[in-house]
Amino acid sequence: MAFQTTIAAPVSYTGVGLHSGKDVTMKLQPAEADTGIVFTRVDLPGQPQVEAKAENVTSTLRATTIEDNGIKMFTIEHVMSALHGAGIDNVEICINAEEPPVADGSSREFFQLLQKAGIRQLDRERQEIVIDQLYRVDDGDKFVLALPYDGFRVSFTSINPHPLIGIQYGDYEITEENYLKEIAPARTIAYEKEVEALHKMGLGLGGTLENVIVYNDEGWMNPLIYPDELVRHKILDLVGDLRLAGIVKGHFVAVKSGHALNTTMSKLLKAKLGK
Ligand SMILES: [Zn+2]
Repeated sequence: MAFQTTIAAPVSYTGVGLHSGKDVTMKLQPAEADTGIVFTRVDLPGQPQVEAKAENVTSTLRATTIEDNGIKMFTIEHVMSALHGAGIDNVEICINAEEPPVADGSSREFFQLLQKAGIRQLDRERQEIVIDQLYRVDDGDKFVLALPYDGFRVSFTSINPHPLIGIQYGDYEITEENYLKEIAPARTIAYEKEVEALHKMGLGLGGTLENVIVYNDEGWMNPLIYPDELVRHKILDLVGDLRLAGIVKGHFVAVKSGHALNTTMSKLLKAKLGK
């Protein structure tokens, strides 16, 4: 039997938000068993909370947004991914903005923050999302499958028409060690023209070559950490989006999936297997 966990001590992190370009401070506090992952908007009157669960996903346009009672949190997927990778059941995230800091565009700094906090086991059984049969969600040529598996594994194929990127495949057992080494450092990737369009819409204002890998028709504008960094980041995002269902046990096979399909799978799993 696995027990629930929380962080052993409070930790905080300050950095720029990707879309607003403003400084954001996020304080992670230990939380009781069965709290789950909760964002507390300390910048708003009454400090309202938004629970990070699949039912609260309201938008998946470029990032995963959750909303409860009209209170939103944007771009939660990288923080959620680090929490999933570290196996944390319960935490309160006190935050003074509508999105977490972007950090370096990956989840490495969040994962290291959790390691710094340490993990404390709680006296309550963990309610895992255990895949008991095949589940499948599709959208045209994109899909995600969930299969029974003794562990947590992701096999992802990304197919991008740009010759610089092309077809990439990654298959990882998501253990804490593998997550930190192979997945957490993989950063967000964007096409230069997309970045320009976002800036014109007043979005992505905190995006710089420090936190987004940008490519154009000539090549990469900043160096990659891994030659297949794109597919690794896609796996990072999927691990984060699946955490909205709970801590999962199963093998996930994804082709060309993004936040929309990832969170459709989370909603399905939460509805079928959640307690
Ligand atoms: Zn991402």
